Amino acid sequence: MRACFGVKTQLLISRVFIHPPAAVRWRAAQTRLFCSPPAGEEKPGPSMLRHLTSKIKATGPIPVAEYMREVLTNPVTGYYVRNNMLGPDGDFITSPEISQIFGELLGVWIISEWMGAGGPKQLQLVELGPGKGSLAADVLRVLSQLRSVLGEASVSLHLVEVSPALSRLQAQNLTGNRSQEADAEDEPVYRRGETAAGLPVSWYRRLDDVPTGFSIFLAHEFFDALPIHKFQRTQKGWREVMVDIDPEKGDQLRFVVAPSPTLASSTLVQAGERRDHVEVCAEGGVVVQQLARRIVEDGGAALIADYGHDGTKTDTFRGFKGHELHDVLSSPGSADLTTDVDFSYLRRMAGGGVACLGPVSQRTFLKNMGIDSRMQVLLRNCSDESTRKQLIGSYDMLTNPAKMGERFHFFGLLHHSRLAKPKKPEGLKLEKKDPAPLPVAGFTELRFS
Ligand code: SAH
Repeated sequence: MRACFGVKTQLLISRVFIHPPAAVRWRAAQTRLFCSPPAGEEKPGPSMLRHLTSKIKATGPIPVAEYMREVLTNPVTGYYVRNNMLGPDGDFITSPEISQIFGELLGVWIISEWMGAGGPKQLQLVELGPGKGSLAADVLRVLSQLRSVLGEASVSLHLVEVSPALSRLQAQNLTGNRSQEADAEDEPVYRRGETAAGLPVSWYRRLDDVPTGFSIFLAHEFFDALPIHKFQRTQKGWREVMVDIDPEKGDQLRFVVAPSPTLASSTLVQAGERRDHVEVCAEGGVVVQQLARRIVEDGGAALIADYGHDGTKTDTFRGFKGHELHDVLSSPGSADLTTDVDFSYLRRMAGGGVACLGPVSQRTFLKNMGIDSRMQVLLRNCSDESTRKQLIGSYDMLTNPAKMGERFHFFGLLHHSRLAKPKKPEGLKLEKKDPAPLPVAGFTELRFS
């Protein structure tokens, strides 16, 4: 019964978390948030730098968005083409890599939203930018624990990933040897496989290629990696910030302000903008529009988790290399580039066709999802002192307001029907109050009574 939904989510959480898992994998606890500036100069990344300087020599200064796209996803030399950026030995680490509890709680969210939609027969789980595949693996483990709740529903996993190297790593983690690359390079599904439990997994380069159907979308630290345009207010109006070759040092890049309006500066800055410097992730806007359209047409929900702001910040463009801050223009291709996600822009681009929830802080979301109860069970069952310390350390990293707890946010897109007040059952004349809208796990406090 839909009216019992809040209670059902609590039951899901306790069914998953009442017993400690057979094997708890402890992951590292260091993130992009706590990086210090590099001690010395970096060696330049020659081929990417050469590629960029010849491009600029041929066509003139390039928009920051083009610079970021080339540096991160150029098919030959792009940063994400390498596969060692995530984890303690790489350049940064993310919440799913810190603790498996994170992915488990998102698994519960997915099932509760599937139930909230009336339990459709088909459930596509779609992850954008799956990294090492750890989040998907933790989610799938919860889905298999709750197989009896899912009943006959057919579940499939769809991964949107540009990096061939990371897709191989994901395939290894999720399917072992049970995956195969497509024969032709331009196939929309470039790899297919299945998990040990026989659940089908498919890889795509673009969201557009994922089949339609009821889907729950996850995007963790995906939007922050998409290219942004930068704009500066000047006395002559808004101007786009571009990347140019430094005339004094021919092998170095510098920022310049375009002397006249560009198409982007004329169309992407909002009328009435009050800040003096803004970043607009037009590509992220397109992805959110696609997600919203799919949710309206096929049903489902999207959960976007990232660091960000609600249209208040100005310059957030930064680089990371070896867990340290890195100059965004130096040795391009050798470091991660990222910006804070502007949730107010994503909300605007989602439009009125879907309901937007949040952003709420990671701390609030995880606490609403029952992370404290999960911790209690794990600590009660853990006698090893160093494991207990790691457990407490990763919980602290994920939820402490001074660490990831307040910097990271959760933002949801839902079908409007999901938040509609349930109709009063016919014939029940005794009920006086209108039934309340159904709570959405994570965004609403679920009380454990
Ligand atoms: N979600 C993971 C990884 C975050 S890193 C985690 O939180 O651990 C960003 C991920 O997005 C990587 O997998 C990267 O290869 C992928 N990515 C970056 N730009 C992309 C794009 N334009 N399209 C699809 N995937 C992209």
